[in-house]
Amino acid sequence: MALQKLLSVDASGPLETTRRFLAQIWERSALDGMFVPAWAAGEDDPRPALLTDPADLKRADPFAPLMVLNTAPHIAALAADRPHQRLAAVLRPCELRSLRELARRQSLNLSGLLLISPDCLATFPHEDFDWRVQHAAFIERITDEALHFAAQGGILPSRLRPACQACDQPYPSDADILIGVLGLETNHSLILGFRDEALAEQVGWREAPPPSADLLTRRERVIEKLREWRQRSRAYAESHLEEGEATLEGLVQHLRRCENCRNWISRSCPFFADAWRATAEGTHMTDLESSWLPSCGGCGMCDHACPEDYPLSTVIGHLARRVGSGAL
Ligand code: SF4
Ligand code: SF4
Repeated sequence: MALQKLLSVDASGPLETTRRFLAQIWERSALDGMFVPAWAAGEDDPRPALLTDPADLKRADPFAPLMVLNTAPHIAALAADRPHQRLAAVLRPCELRSLRELARRQSLNLSGLLLISPDCLATFPHEDFDWRVQHAAFIERITDEALHFAAQGGILPSRLRPACQACDQPYPSDADILIGVLGLETNHSLILGFRDEALAEQVGWREAPPPSADLLTRRERVIEKLREWRQRSRAYAESHLEEGEATLEGLVQHLRRCENCRNWISRSCPFFADAWRATAEGTHMTDLESSWLPSCGGCGMCDHACPEDYPLSTVIGHLARRVGSGAL
């Protein structure tokens, strides 16, 4: 990030401090709306929503350890449908990767959209998250706990969704604004990153003090350890794939056979449906190989309870990396 600043956290805690920061961005950028995960009255989980009143930011929760969908297609549609509005979107690093890829494919201009991405503290399976909500003293306690473990790189890994256990890029690399929490004692401070000085000036942060060198070093060390752990975890999961599962042919055979998985991925993956249509109509796999797999942002939304226990995101991630490295 071109410019990094220190965001001191007061007694209200890191979530509340972040909400005030988002409100400041909203005001200084004269936004018409912000797309952000938010708790809604009567709901037990935070859902991505387009807020049009900054007062609603009191419900925003960019750190909640739950992901219900990859919002990239929704944000791309917003940008296309409302080109004259000033909008911001708060999204996870894997969603940001998907959004950049969608924009590239659709020649979509995202310059009118302010893209804000926090470090990701990873996410639980939905049923695990629901259990935690039912047993929490108050609903935002789940997020507080996730933030509490940020200093060591996040929550106990074995409880995370498989895709999060394997995700070695839980930090945004090309957001306009980064909210850094990994490696930090979040009750004291967060790190903000700005794309450039002009943006920092626009939102009123150009003159703020930078984080200390010690803080930056600690964050880098924790991120590096997290990456190593996730890569080991991924290698372990891939070493347990059965013969034939780790090939494109094996995956295509499974998808041809399992309507349940096919329908699920068509709904949840931003890139699958078009490529599959081309493959299903023909006998070749070119579109899956050249279009779907290289676009995969690793969000893991394709994972679900397959009746055959097929490890979808592990197989897809494995093949996507092989395509990326030219090994497939
Ligand atoms: S895949 Fe990575 S960026 Fe996406 S929710 Fe999991 S840890 Fe976060
Ligand atoms: S294939 Fe799975 S992990 Fe990759 S982008 Fe699609 S839903 Fe996300």
